[in-house]
Amino acid sequence: MGHQAGQMLLPLGLLFAALSLGSCIPLQRAPGRSKLLLDVDTPNLDTMAADGVKAKYMSPAFITLTSPCHFTLLTGRYLENHGVIHNMWFDTKTGVKLPYYTTQGISSWWDNGSLPIWITAQRQGLKTGSIHFPGTKAKYQKEEVYKKLVEPALFNYSNETNWRQSIDTVMEWFTADNLDFITLYFGEPDSSGHKFGPESTQRKNMIAQVDRTVGYLRQRIRESGLESKLNLIITSDHGMETVLKTDEIHLRTVSNFTFKDIDFELLDYGPNGLLVPKEGKLEHVYSVLKSAHPKLHVYKKEEFPKRFHYANHSRITPLLLYSDPGYVIHGRYKVQFNKGEHGFDNEAMNMKTIFRAVGPAFKKGLEVEPFESVNVYALLCELLSITPEPHDGSLEVTKPMLREPTDGHGLG
Ligand SMILES: [Zn+2]
Repeated sequence: MGHQAGQMLLPLGLLFAALSLGSCIPLQRAPGRSKLLLDVDTPNLDTMAADGVKAKYMSPAFITLTSPCHFTLLTGRYLENHGVIHNMWFDTKTGVKLPYYTTQGISSWWDNGSLPIWITAQRQGLKTGSIHFPGTKAKYQKEEVYKKLVEPALFNYSNETNWRQSIDTVMEWFTADNLDFITLYFGEPDSSGHKFGPESTQRKNMIAQVDRTVGYLRQRIRESGLESKLNLIITSDHGMETVLKTDEIHLRTVSNFTFKDIDFELLDYGPNGLLVPKEGKLEHVYSVLKSAHPKLHVYKKEEFPKRFHYANHSRITPLLLYSDPGYVIHGRYKVQFNKGEHGFDNEAMNMKTIFRAVGPAFKKGLEVEPFESVNVYALLCELLSITPEPHDGSLEVTKPMLREPTDGHGLG
């Protein structure tokens, strides 16, 4: 579906905030997953659901990593179509690999054909802003987000006072600077989930902090006089799984496998791996790894399951590895000690994430069926009355969340 201006409830001065929480709040009501129920009260998220729309859950794209999944939210495209296929920039020729933060500053990693919604909105006359959201720092076809805050290299993503300051900044941008659309990212409960595990007290405390922050945000929206104009979406990029410490996958111990046969490797990053075997060694490496561990899946690029929408991109290496939920892939040395991890199959329930929306465009007290995150982009474009770029989702999926246009309120 294309642009339908007449669908908008508020034709003028529509403000929009998309908030993204780093990693997910565990699904409170996922059927058949009672072992994951966390004993955390989330009164503010519950109130938000009562006042707006809640999805049973949202399915992220694969691989379930931060930068790739955020770029899917911003573009409506699967990873193989937007090209941000990992948190790390890498060059298979030189072997150079750069971490998450450094990769944020490399425009060529992000700007490879798919425009994020900020740029599309700006080209159509809107003003956008972003705080700490993955992809914010890059330039796209020489354009960039109008107002941005990029965190320093050493940044405490968990500080509740910082979170409130960011929310105050957002309110100022919406009111004093008249912005139309802002994305805001919080790096929790991701960090505590990695460090202490998804079922830890520390992560439960962080979920309570996230809930308080949602309460503060909605309070500031009311105090700023934006409640009748601002549509708010709270979602995240992926879930979190407890890492199993027994029967681990160690490539260095696989019989007949040697790193001497490998030209380039991106391993030790949770459950995902990329390998470039040396010339003439692909079949050998493939066959020894293929049967190395029952929880390890090894594919040639062309044979990677199509449902992941991941492998059909020039940045993907000839061999791909992924492991089942709970298992991470260890390479030359054991360097991964996280208790919680993501990156797993996006069909695994623990990778699913939340979606909540509230505001004048949304129905009240509606719970909708699960949907894929590629569909969020079309919804954002609809809320902003902008024409979307080509994407992999559909507005039809989220349209039932929206109120019907009312006479005298629509543009048409
Ligand atoms: Zn993470």
